[in-house]
Amino acid sequence: MPVSKKNLVFLGPPGVGKGTIAERFAKIHGLHHISTGQLLREAVAAGTELGKKAQAVMASGGLVSDELVTAIVSGFLAKPEVRDAGFILDGFPRTLNQAALLSNALKKEGLALNAVLSFDAPESLLLDRLTARIVCSQCGATFNRISLPPKKDGVCDHCSSTLIQRKDDTLETAQSRLAVYKEQTEPLVGFYTQTGLLVPLDGTEEIEPKLQKLAVILA
Ligand code: AMP
Repeated sequence: MPVSKKNLVFLGPPGVGKGTIAERFAKIHGLHHISTGQLLREAVAAGTELGKKAQAVMASGGLVSDELVTAIVSGFLAKPEVRDAGFILDGFPRTLNQAALLSNALKKEGLALNAVLSFDAPESLLLDRLTARIVCSQCGATFNRISLPPKKDGVCDHCSSTLIQRKDDTLETAQSRLAVYKEQTEPLVGFYTQTGLLVPLDGTEEIEPKLQKLAVILA
C-alpha cells in the first residue's frame, strides 16, 4: 500500500543523491524541503552566530551539535505553512539522539513522520560522486561533473552564478564524512526499521529512476 508523501525523512550517506531527489520531489509535490546542510552553509556564508559555530566542524567533515541542528529544524516545524503542506527532512536526523529530539519536536507540533526513505550505495561510488560534485555558489543547486553536468561549464543552469566545489567534497574530507556516517548515522537504519517507518531504496540508480520509484511508493 502506498505511504503518504507528507512528512518524510530522506536518510543516506553523503553522495547518495538524497539532496537532489529531495529537492526535485519536494518541488513536484509542493512539500517544504528542509536541508540542514544547506541551511548551515547559508549561515556560514552569511557569517551569523550559527554559521560561526558550525564553520570549523563542517569543514572537517564532523557533525554540528545535536542541539543546534534540532533548533533549526524545530523552527521550521513550528511554521503553519510547513505543517500544512508537509515536509522532507534531508540530512536530519543524523544521530540517534537527533532522532529522539525530532520525535519530541514532532509531538509538540502534533505531527508524525510517515516514512523514512533510506538510500544506500557502495562507498567507492559515493566517493566518486562526492569528489565530482559541484554546487552553485549562490542558490545551492547541485550538479555533478560526470552524472549531472550543467548546460554550460562552471555556470549554474538556474541562476547563472559560478559553480564551485564544496570545501568538504575533497577526497580526504569526503572519506571522514563517510566514516562519521557509518559510526553515527547508520544506526538510524536499524532504529527506523524497528519503528516500521524505513523504506530501503537503491542509491546507485540515476535521478529519474529514483524519482519514478518514489512516485510508486508514495501516494
Ligand atoms: P550535507 O549537506 O547534508 O552533506 O551536510 C553538510 C555538513 O553540515 C555535514 O557534514 C555536517 O557538518 C553538517 N550537518 C548537516 N546536517 C547535520 C545534522 N543533522 N547534524 C549535524 N551536522 C549536520
